Amino acid sequence: MIDTKDLPEKAKRIFDSLIEAFEEQNINPTPLNYLVWYQYYKGDNPKFRQEMDTILSDPFGYTDRLGKRLYDEYLAEDENENENSEFDRAFRRLMDVMIKKMDLWSNKLSKHTQELNDCTHQLSDPNLNAEDVKKITHSVLTSTSSMKESSMALQEEISNSSDAVRELRQQLVEARAEAMRDELTDVGNRKAFNNAIEELMFDAKDIPNSLYLVMADIDNFKDFNDTYGHLVGDSVLRYFASMMKKTKGDNETICRFGGEEFAILIAESSMEQATERAKGIRKDIQAAHLKQRNSDKPLKTITSSFGIARFHGDKDDAKSFLERADDALYLAKEKGRNQVVDEEQVLSEKAVDAKK
Ligand code: GH3
Ligand code: MG
Ligand code: MG
Repeated sequence: MIDTKDLPEKAKRIFDSLIEAFEEQNINPTPLNYLVWYQYYKGDNPKFRQEMDTILSDPFGYTDRLGKRLYDEYLAEDENENENSEFDRAFRRLMDVMIKKMDLWSNKLSKHTQELNDCTHQLSDPNLNAEDVKKITHSVLTSTSSMKESSMALQEEISNSSDAVRELRQQLVEARAEAMRDELTDVGNRKAFNNAIEELMFDAKDIPNSLYLVMADIDNFKDFNDTYGHLVGDSVLRYFASMMKKTKGDNETICRFGGEEFAILIAESSMEQATERAKGIRKDIQAAHLKQRNSDKPLKTITSSFGIARFHGDKDDAKSFLERADDALYLAKEKGRNQVVDEEQVLSEKAVDAKK
């Protein structure tokens, strides 16, 4: 569920666990594994995410080989054009540097191993005198100490890279949250809605009658603007959003769909609960005693209308899900506004019309 309010905390937690997960689950900190896990935590690709979830629930879990397969299957192709590609590129550059460092270190290690082998071979010569042994020992010590130095340098390099990755990730999280937020009302914007609906439909596709979409629209808002001006209208929009946020459940995603229209996605719910929620908002806004900031004069009562649709599962899609909510909202307006209508009522209304 995407909710900009929860994003930074959630993502911070997630990113911290990226480094921890590698240690806990004994995952090799290779650049490819970093890329795969980074994408997993970013969560842009539901299919990939689902497959990773399945892999992680297996006691044998994640392996380098699985990582490579997942990378080839899901991630290699959409490397280029996505909204965060700037961050992805920076992340990749960092990984490139790490790969080069590791290559260097690995070359050094094989040279060192070769030197040790040579020394062992020389030491097995029965004719060695004390001076020879001293020379060989000295060369072993020199090589080992140089190895230790470069290993420490590499460790520091990796730890610096981790910091840089962490920082990048934080920037990414902030930029994403900003891009998904409606500036006026501080709820999710249309883009957040589009992401959330796809994600929630994916999660709910096998759970019948669990996901609901409530479209809320302020009644006669044009008149309201005409009477009090746009700025007062803006504060009403802010008030409406903050009121919904105050009573928001954990299973809800609230977005500004556009203008004076808001969409609430309610997961793991029922038509009764979604209806109750809409009725609650309708009552709350009607009961609000809003005043003009300067004169303290009361403003007109605000009413709102609601249309509710149920997600029908596998064969349903975002477009028709939205259309059903819209049709219900339209009927609520037609029936006189300030009320809640659901998709079942639209159907029975149509049946009545057909009989006429
Ligand atoms: P209905 O009851 O049928 O919904 O009538 P309505 O007047 O609310 O609907 P209509 O679609 O005719 O007008 C919507 C109005 O919402 C028009 C526009 O001025 C106002 N509006 C849209 N976005 C904003 C905004 O960001 N700020 C303000 N103040 N008004 C907005
Ligand atoms: Mg309206
Ligand atoms: Mg409208």
